[in-house]
Amino acid sequence: MSLDPETARQIEELSRDLRPLLVLDVDDVLIEFIRPFPNYLKSRGYELRLETFRLHGNIYDTATDRPVERELASELIDGFYASQADWQTMTAGAAEALDGFAGAAEIVLLTAMPHRHRDTRRRHLRSLGLAYPLLTTEAPKGPAIEALRGPAARPVAFVDDMPNNLASVGRHVPDAHLFHLMADNSLRELMPPPAEGIQVVRDWPDAAPRIARALGI
Ligand SMILES: [Mg+2]
Repeated sequence: MSLDPETARQIEELSRDLRPLLVLDVDDVLIEFIRPFPNYLKSRGYELRLETFRLHGNIYDTATDRPVERELASELIDGFYASQADWQTMTAGAAEALDGFAGAAEIVLLTAMPHRHRDTRRRHLRSLGLAYPLLTTEAPKGPAIEALRGPAARPVAFVDDMPNNLASVGRHVPDAHLFHLMADNSLRELMPPPAEGIQVVRDWPDAAPRIARALGI
């Protein structure tokens, strides 16, 4: 899969930075998703039963006790993103960790969500004190980070809770340092062990020194 053209346009707006590059996923890395999402569903008469590590197929209509169709699940997820400021709070330790990098790295946030939610998310992140550039992508993350790094051979670190995103970046930027961070570590039981070369971190205080080492900052 190639680079999402809208993501390419967003990358063009950034100044060409030569510092080490730190790219961060947003949901369940910087702000909570999997803990507030069930509360949002409940407020609308649905519930999340995470039997596998995916949303589709695991959202149930409380009244009928049946899983909802794919289209309704997508609508519910969309509604959550539209009202994210009401639900999504900061992941513990994230702000302190990023403050600790204090300008030594270029920090960019890369979120896999429809582009139409970019402004809402940007406003929400700013209100939480996370005023870093935010890119949205509707395609795999690997090509986006390859483009973001640019021609400079600078170190790259990438943090995400979704193994498929880490794998995509590993394919496109083979020397990137990959970190698997999950706001809710209990979900690790629902997924296979991480692929070789991926560093598992338990939380932000664990991640921060490892990221600094990887980036040489
Ligand atoms: Mg995520």
